[in-house]
Amino acid sequence: FAEETDLVVVGSGGAGMSAALTAAQAGKKVIMLEKMPIIGGNTNRAEGGMNAARTLQQLENGITHDSAMTMSLDAQKGGHYLNNPELTLALGENAKEAEAWMLSLGADFCHRMGRGGGQSVARGHGPCDGSAVGAHIMKLFYKTAKSIPGIEIRPSNKVTEVIVKDGKVAGVKVIGKDKKEYTIDSKAVVLATGGFGANAKMIESLRPEYKGFATTNHPGALGEGIDLGLRAGATLVDMREIQAHPTVVPVKGILISESMRGRGAYLVNQDGKRFINELLPRDIVAAGVLAQPTGKAWILIDNALVQKNKLAQGYIQQGLAVKGNNVEELAKGIGVPAANLKATMEQYAKAFETKKDEAFGRPEMITPNNVFPMYAIQITPAIHHTMGGLRINKNAEVIGVTAKPVPGLFAAGEVTGGVHGGNRIGGNAVADIITFGRIAGKSAADYIK
Ligand code: ADP
Repeated sequence: FAEETDLVVVGSGGAGMSAALTAAQAGKKVIMLEKMPIIGGNTNRAEGGMNAARTLQQLENGITHDSAMTMSLDAQKGGHYLNNPELTLALGENAKEAEAWMLSLGADFCHRMGRGGGQSVARGHGPCDGSAVGAHIMKLFYKTAKSIPGIEIRPSNKVTEVIVKDGKVAGVKVIGKDKKEYTIDSKAVVLATGGFGANAKMIESLRPEYKGFATTNHPGALGEGIDLGLRAGATLVDMREIQAHPTVVPVKGILISESMRGRGAYLVNQDGKRFINELLPRDIVAAGVLAQPTGKAWILIDNALVQKNKLAQGYIQQGLAVKGNNVEELAKGIGVPAANLKATMEQYAKAFETKKDEAFGRPEMITPNNVFPMYAIQITPAIHHTMGGLRINKNAEVIGVTAKPVPGLFAAGEVTGGVHGGNRIGGNAVADIITFGRIAGKSAADYIK
């Protein structure tokens, strides 16, 4: 005896939720399986925002020169042109609709004027109060899933196999809450199991130089979805492309959002000096931090930003920041030469005024970032995102060994590869999971008919 459903979605993060809701909105019966006791995976931890080009809100803010192609090319440039252009274009073209869909569900999203690293145009969207995007969207997804018919969510249920019969997906094997194995029959399965950023062994085997790195990922980011896909006939792409996020609190592994830099914060080394254009893509900024003699840096955030930003307030409440009421106090607190720090702050304020960063060519300053009290948080790079994974096409169909889709198998989000190439730019993860989650849900619904 096996249960039966139209669609099984494996994983309850943003990609799985977007797929499940889209299929349910198309009238399909969906069972969502989540191995962890709580839902939301890494999506719960997403802080920055959702990139989307040519949204209504972007236009309302006077940003009229963005386009799907520009968004696609930014992803490729940031990803060192390793990305699959079919996928970056699908992202650029469909993110706008995905963002509008979030608004239709009730997301309190505003367009953000600050540019994230690697964005040639400001296209971030997120909670209007500046709070973290992940918690906001997961709450919304859960509420919506509860309010529409057709979706059942099962935490503590781990998928151990995608069943393939006569070359087609036929269901899944699951270990339930009670540790007993059971089967669900379904014509289609969406793998939305996330990445493997918390699997230190897997990371090290692919990239030995990352041995010993901390991670920003949730403990369930172990990459079982890769294996599930492979056993069902999937192929992989870009597995060695693993991203270290440049600004993570050492040892604690707490990520300081890229949006802090986008909103005007900058980095100084132990000498009290800036060393890089802080808006460059993550891998370059991470390498810049590691190249400093201590392998660490300080991110400086002024009180003007703290006053209006919940994320920044959260970092301070968690005791991550050193506070200084004046330059001397701040310099002493973080152990850098006060004269250097003073000169750095003056140079940055001047760059803001003249709209030209002579030293490092940062394209946008947004604020002078010099209102005391100033706050400094120590950071270093940590494993953040795994760009590689299951090979998909623009319909989120999983590509098999014959270079054709595996019938009935779809995937979206961090478990897939090809969207972000060699380096994901900030704001493109949430864009990816919602956009491709929706595409996977729609493709699966169409496939089931
Ligand atoms: P994405 O951002 O791509 O949506 P997330 O990390 O947010 O990825 O979500 C992926 C979810 O999938 C996590 O909650 C993770 O625990 C879950 N997951 C991973 N492997 C399995 C599995 N074999 N069975 C059920 N759930 C899984």
